[in-house]
Amino acid sequence: MGIPVPKLTMKETIALIDQVIDERRPELFHVVTLNPEITMSCQHDAQLRNIVEEAGLLTADGIGIVMVSQLKRNPLPERVTGCDLLLQLLQLEGTNARTYYLLGASKETNQLAAEEIERSYPGVKVIGRHHGFYSEAEEERIIGEIEGLSPDILVVALGAPRSERLIHRYKHKLNARVAIGVGGSLDIIAG
Ligand code: UDP
Repeated sequence: MGIPVPKLTMKETIALIDQVIDERRPELFHVVTLNPEITMSCQHDAQLRNIVEEAGLLTADGIGIVMVSQLKRNPLPERVTGCDLLLQLLQLEGTNARTYYLLGASKETNQLAAEEIERSYPGVKVIGRHHGFYSEAEEERIIGEIEGLSPDILVVALGAPRSERLIHRYKHKLNARVAIGVGGSLDIIAG
């Protein structure tokens, strides 16, 4: 479908993201975890395709993408889902004391996920969070809060492709090092 996913393993993906944070790049590094919905929508949604093309990094979230790459005899090394990526980053961050902002999921899930992260990964700091059921009028204020807090990693769990659209729309304002759309990961972490 003309979407070039780099051949990176999970370990290499984590190392790249970690390096980007260390470099303190001025521009936001947008990681898009490509699932079948995003991939298919890119065929008819030029705006979404542009978001994908402008992303700093694409990962193969869907197993279908890995299978197609194998059929085309140009195989991707493995699947890198948003949820696994977040969990591995959190494990790594335990030693590096990265800061996180969690945006998305229900009010209760968002809070439980933040508590679970801080309990399970000592050293990780959730410096801000907001649930994902806010009104349009509240959005600017939430973006302003993220900007003021300047997290290393902005985790956006609003569902795809809404997360990707939000990150792209505000990429010059968010003042985060890395932003990742992670689907239902906060629900999984919250249990
Ligand atoms: N969500 C949200 N606001 C909304 C709709 C959904 O924060 O207005 C959250 C929802 O609670 C869940 C996540 O977005 O935590 C979507 O998870 P899903 O697995 O459906 O995401 P996908 O894999 O489709 O990106």
